[in-house]
Amino acid sequence: MGFVVAIDGPAGTGKGTVTKIIAKDLGLVDIDTGAMYRCVSLEALRRNIEPVESDELLKMLDEIKIQLKKKEGKQEVWLNGENVSEKIRTLEVDDVVAKFAALKMVRDKMTPLQRRMGESENIIMEGRDIGTTVFPDANVKIYLDASVEERARRRYKQDIENGMEVSFEEILKAIKQRHKLETEREIAPLRKAEDAILVDSTNLTIEEVVAEIEKIIREKIK
Ligand code: C5P
Repeated sequence: MGFVVAIDGPAGTGKGTVTKIIAKDLGLVDIDTGAMYRCVSLEALRRNIEPVESDELLKMLDEIKIQLKKKEGKQEVWLNGENVSEKIRTLEVDDVVAKFAALKMVRDKMTPLQRRMGESENIIMEGRDIGTTVFPDANVKIYLDASVEERARRRYKQDIENGMEVSFEEILKAIKQRHKLETEREIAPLRKAEDAILVDSTNLTIEEVVAEIEKIIREKIK
């Protein structure tokens, strides 16, 4: 196994953004596991498959090919030979992804894939269960948190900047709902691993979060 940095936490903490910056600064390969669950959800939506365990879903999981590619420094997500980097970020996918991610069938397929990605490279992997389940022996474990209101504010700002018509109330409700599903599910729920270091980003800028996490990682590399 290479050097593994696990970053977990709920949506809207800036996890994705800081992970990419840290990967570049420290020469690590960044892996967004949420994108993989989003691919499963997108393909299921396309095939009209419900978020419950079924033979149809199992067949789909056997058939899909998910690839995380790096192109000119940017990560692209490919599903069955199609670039779906944008298509996996729609509200439609947002609505169902936590339901698909709660299924044993889905996690049984994704977790080994994620472990394989960390086998031969030095990585920084972000998700919900990386420090608890995927890499319980990770060299560094970070749990990035922020208040639910702040997380909703960030998401709202991001969506407005992307030209989407959304209401803050709607986003707050959706974030709360997703949080409930993620923390209360039976398999690999979102929680801080005992040995993870908590970083609260509520009152920090992206730069401050990056600096704090890089300091923690550098101390471990020493
Ligand atoms: O990080 P992102 O919001 O893109 O993740 C999408 C969804 O995938 C999350 O809401 C969560 O339900 C699920 N997920 C997960 N385990 C991970 C990463 C993401 O259950 N390791």
